[in-house]
Amino acid sequence: MSERPPAVVEFDAVSKTYPGPVTAVREVSLRIGRGELVGVVGPSGSGKSSVLHLMGSLDRPSAGRVLIDGHDVAKLSDREVSALRATRIGFVFQQFHLAVGVPVLDSVADGLLYAGVPVRRRRAGAAAALARVGLSHRVHHLPHQLSGGERQRVAVARAVVGGPSVLLADEPTGNLDSASGAAVLELLRELHAGGTTVVVITHDREIAARLPRRIEMRDGRLVGDTVRGTTSGAHR
Ligand code: ADP
Ligand code: MG
Repeated sequence: MSERPPAVVEFDAVSKTYPGPVTAVREVSLRIGRGELVGVVGPSGSGKSSVLHLMGSLDRPSAGRVLIDGHDVAKLSDREVSALRATRIGFVFQQFHLAVGVPVLDSVADGLLYAGVPVRRRRAGAAAALARVGLSHRVHHLPHQLSGGERQRVAVARAVVGGPSVLLADEPTGNLDSASGAAVLELLRELHAGGTTVVVITHDREIAARLPRRIEMRDGRLVGDTVRGTTSGAHR
């Protein structure tokens, strides 16, 4: 085989133990390449969110190694981790986390604050990101004037406005009706088609089955890694 593409996220025997103690992640090794679209599935409490937090450097591993764009998170200072997260990671959660009373354009532009982009370019970038999620007609709206599906699309725009290396989405359709949820999933597919690397946690097995790659968690362990219908070691 030819050379492997560079990994956006790499886990090497990663474990995470929370005070309690609760071991939420047990010796997980995986590799996510640039441009992949990956679904993470598993029962509630199986460690999906913990894995996503580790991928996004929101948390540090208790054991093992997490590499983001080749950077070993454990070897970075808190400041460096914050910078890495601000510039390379986009998050979308089940809750939209849009500030009350803040117009959509500004909410999205704030996604560029930490990257040190000047205000005019932040606003131009925000307008472009909102166009990508199909919300050019809503830029001056306030969150409470939007539907749930539209709010989540704003959250997606905010997550991708800085051109992150990877978009991490934790049950982004969990608070939406099925039609709006399907639209958000379709949006993630479009972003993926446009080159964005996407990791999405979903409890919906039908959705997950249609994704190019599916990672399955159980009791903190990675118990399955399926690429287009075939169990693969190619991405490990
Ligand atoms: P999932 O997203 O698959 O539902 P989580 O990663 O949220 O799973 O949780 C995995 C396990 O870790 C659960 O038992 C959960 O209660 C525990 N857990 C998650 N976060 C924390 C925390 N901050 N402190 C203590 N325990 C936690
Ligand atoms: Mg979760």
